[in-house]
Amino acid sequence: MDETGLAREFRADDFFGAQAPREFLGKLLMRPSLPPTLLLSGPGGVGKALAAFLWIKALVCENNTQHSFSACDECRTCRSLNALNQPDFVAIRPRSTEITIKQIREDYASFRDAYLLPHNLPYRLFLLEECHLLNEEVSNMMLKLLEEPPERTLFILVTDKPYLLLPTIRSRTLEVRFLTEPTDRLAEYLRTQGADEAQAELAAYFSQGRVGLAKQLLLTPNFLPALAAAMSRITRRLQKKATAGGMFAFREAVLELANVHFQSILKVDEGEVPPDFYLLPWRRPREDEDDEGQAAPARRNALERASLQFVLDCLRLALLKAEEQSGSPLASTNEQVFVHARSQLEVNLRLDQVVDSLLINLADARI
Ligand SMILES: [Zn+2]
Repeated sequence: MDETGLAREFRADDFFGAQAPREFLGKLLMRPSLPPTLLLSGPGGVGKALAAFLWIKALVCENNTQHSFSACDECRTCRSLNALNQPDFVAIRPRSTEITIKQIREDYASFRDAYLLPHNLPYRLFLLEECHLLNEEVSNMMLKLLEEPPERTLFILVTDKPYLLLPTIRSRTLEVRFLTEPTDRLAEYLRTQGADEAQAELAAYFSQGRVGLAKQLLLTPNFLPALAAAMSRITRRLQKKATAGGMFAFREAVLELANVHFQSILKVDEGEVPPDFYLLPWRRPREDEDDEGQAAPARRNALERASLQFVLDCLRLALLKAEEQSGSPLASTNEQVFVHARSQLEVNLRLDQVVDSLLINLADARI
């Protein structure tokens, strides 16, 4: 596949979907004064962080004299943002399972800088990804900042779990909500970006209309073929009476699928993929991240858990599709079985145990 179309730098004008929030953000750029804190919320992988970055660039681009939602990507300011070499811009994302004050002090200018005037941009800009992972200490500090917002400092908070923010923080933000897109439109878009027809359809379906996630699936080596294989096993299992051998093969397929996915996201997280893959410069792994002590295993664990949750979601979707095709919908029962499997994962069971119990429950649900 042509990876250049999928992995290249984004610009505001070829951003897929999110029409309403983008229009809203565009209108904000025309206002004489801005709210001190924006909260971009919505499902993971729909482009919130990307929209935030494009918006920041549009806000400070030296050539954007019309205040449109676009940036030249060529001026000194745009280049400094793209290279993460701009003292007035700080992007923060969790290195581990939470964002601690220690991380903020070590990795970035401390929040105390929020009270300083910007060096060379009109604003001092803080972008916080997965901001629901701010720990208590950082949340309280954030709240103090938002109670009396420093002049010429803007916070852009991004999360797929806004309900986990302190209500006192959330109520002080201007929330912009992002939604998923219809899967047929997304599949069409992915084809225009160079994905082949079958892969585009699979990626759009399994991402449930989330463009960032769909692209990630397309760029993850071996994942979509493994998913297609697992799907056809599920379909066969639904069409025929399950045999012990068939169940074993299915179980192996699921475990293999989870392994392929986890290994891929680990590679992305550890920076073993070309830098082009990272649309957002701060998501590129930092060079000094090797000696971060306790953070690595915790991060690995969090990634593995997220990966397993995702594979479970894929299985549920595969099952729904297989049922649709075989004309025996059991969606509500399956929903419960998967909710149960998800909660098992929360309490730290191993994947093979979760899959075994899932298979037993699915078999029970059919009787
Ligand atoms: Zn520019």
